[in-house]
Amino acid sequence: MYFTAYHTFQLSPLLVTRDFGYDLLFCRLQNLEFGVMGSQPHVLVVPYPAQGHVAPFMKFSHRIVDHGIKVTFVSPEFIHERLKTTMPMKSPIRLVSFPDGLEPGDDPNDKIKLINSFLEVMPGHFKDLIEKINESDDEHIGCVITDGMVVPALEVAEKMGIKMAVLWPAGPATLAIILSIPKLIQDGIIDIRGTPLKNELIWLSKEIPAWTSTKLPWSCPGDSKRQEFLFRHLFRMNHFVKQCNWLLSNSFYELDSLALNLIPEIIPAGPLLLANQSGSHIGSFWPEDSTCLSWLDKQPVGSVIYASFGSTSIFSQQQLDELALGLELIGQPFLWVARSDIINETLTKFLYGFRTRIADRGRIVNWAPQEQVLAHPSTACFLSHCGWNSTLEGISMGVPFLCWPYFTDQFQNKSYICDVWKVGLGLNPDENGIITRHEINIKIKTLLFDDGIKTNALKLKEMAKKSVTEGGSSLKNFESFIEQIKH
Ligand code: UDP
Repeated sequence: MYFTAYHTFQLSPLLVTRDFGYDLLFCRLQNLEFGVMGSQPHVLVVPYPAQGHVAPFMKFSHRIVDHGIKVTFVSPEFIHERLKTTMPMKSPIRLVSFPDGLEPGDDPNDKIKLINSFLEVMPGHFKDLIEKINESDDEHIGCVITDGMVVPALEVAEKMGIKMAVLWPAGPATLAIILSIPKLIQDGIIDIRGTPLKNELIWLSKEIPAWTSTKLPWSCPGDSKRQEFLFRHLFRMNHFVKQCNWLLSNSFYELDSLALNLIPEIIPAGPLLLANQSGSHIGSFWPEDSTCLSWLDKQPVGSVIYASFGSTSIFSQQQLDELALGLELIGQPFLWVARSDIINETLTKFLYGFRTRIADRGRIVNWAPQEQVLAHPSTACFLSHCGWNSTLEGISMGVPFLCWPYFTDQFQNKSYICDVWKVGLGLNPDENGIITRHEINIKIKTLLFDDGIKTNALKLKEMAKKSVTEGGSSLKNFESFIEQIKH
């Protein structure tokens, strides 16, 4: 039986979300009182600070609280501020933020610096938070859930003897190759910075797609600083992924049993989707423009091209022009998510003229309620960068893909979409590395007339649904995980 007790927490440097009943109030706590549930099991959820990690972790957190487990969601201030503006006022998740660790004069737009400084300062705050919660008679942190890349959180949990769950938010094949990094180095295939030493295909098994040396999960074409940063984190997480008590995956067994079988301890519990398609904004960094849903209502069934490239893809001006002109050339309705930071130059001026030209059939938004868009009957296909969340969302809604990967695991996800599951087509750049308007136009038309791809997409949709409904493989795995962390 649960009961409510009230305790005084001394969390002076922390920014904490207070949860009175279900009303969220955001405030900086300096020796403030708030209520906590008595004997309720309690977990700390700590995603890597990026949109593609925070979104599935927030969905997972909601599923956990639905089972009577208390969740405290930890993020740096720069993420917390964004979540505050987009989260619904009524939420059962308690948000806690830690300082970013930036020194005066540091550039807050330097993402690498920001994440590094946060990871440096977070262990002290994290340990304090756990100790404060554990000091109370009726509360105890039973488990820390992170995605493997927040190594400092795992180090603290390991030292304090707290159980660790790693929820891997990307594909299982990607995790399999990351777990092979020590062997790839030992075999002279890559060096200790992740740079390939040979220009050859890397096979983990003959049954899953190979990686080319320039399309590894840490490959960031044209940005060696980011590539090294990413590789360092992926390399470090190896130890903890092997030590953790649970290794969960945002995938489902029937989708990719061959890659999942390469990681014997993995527990597939996906796809992680919004529990309720009418609820949105869960874990979004930008406010969603839901007016596009009423616009979709007015479009013919199966007519709209949805174009969205996740939270980090950046286009050159020339490439953006070709994309816009390609969407215009197709002559069908389209919904395009053009984030304000999708190019380094200013977007507004360029889009102004374009918007006027395509006003009768095109809609451009800064951020969309993506799952709802993909589930809408008017949506015909998904022009996507193939981030893992977008991939699973498109699969779960039965939407065919036109693939335009940008970096990291997106290349491998594209191989799965086009060559393994056969639910999409890829776009090929020209000799100058540009994906032209003509390529976009031709491929979209080919895709829309491909009945085989449509049939495969609908089959995968059914499989995804089955895995998370009563008796399904992912639901069973999730329920078993919940039972274990409750006891
Ligand atoms: N997303 C969204 N609205 C948009 C574009 C994306 O809600 O307009 C969500 C999308 O549903 C997904 C996440 O942002 O859950 C992006 O994650 P993904 O792994 O696809 O790409 P990343 O942003 O990590 O590159």
